[in-house]
Amino acid sequence: MSFDPTDFSFGANTAPKRDRKAEWQKRKHKVYLQACEIRDRLRKELGNECNECGAKDSDENHLCFNHLEPRDWEPNKKNLLQRMKLYERDYKARKINLLCNECNGFDGGWYGLQRKLKKKLSSG
Ligand SMILES: [Zn+2]
Repeated sequence: MSFDPTDFSFGANTAPKRDRKAEWQKRKHKVYLQACEIRDRLRKELGNECNECGAKDSDENHLCFNHLEPRDWEPNKKNLLQRMKLYERDYKARKINLLCNECNGFDGGWYGLQRKLKKKLSSG
């Protein structure tokens, strides 16, 4: 049998491209829903409000998980579900609380800290 360079079907997935894409999207959606479920459950267990100011989750001011000590994982190297599973693990170890964007700072770090410091200084 000779090799035909124009035959691209060799070794290719025979499912039509459209189906594969739909399949992938379905899987992605399932993962997303799973992640949301964990996130909602953790939020509820953490009181569903900001640990600093008591704000509730809203469109302008989202609640997010905040690590009380430096986390041992990189969020941008994980997908949503992996992150939620790690948050769940850290929640069980009492390493996270809930903070709103205002208190947390939009990047979850330095700016929030600065804002807190400023608040502290201005309040005496
Ligand atoms: Zn807050």
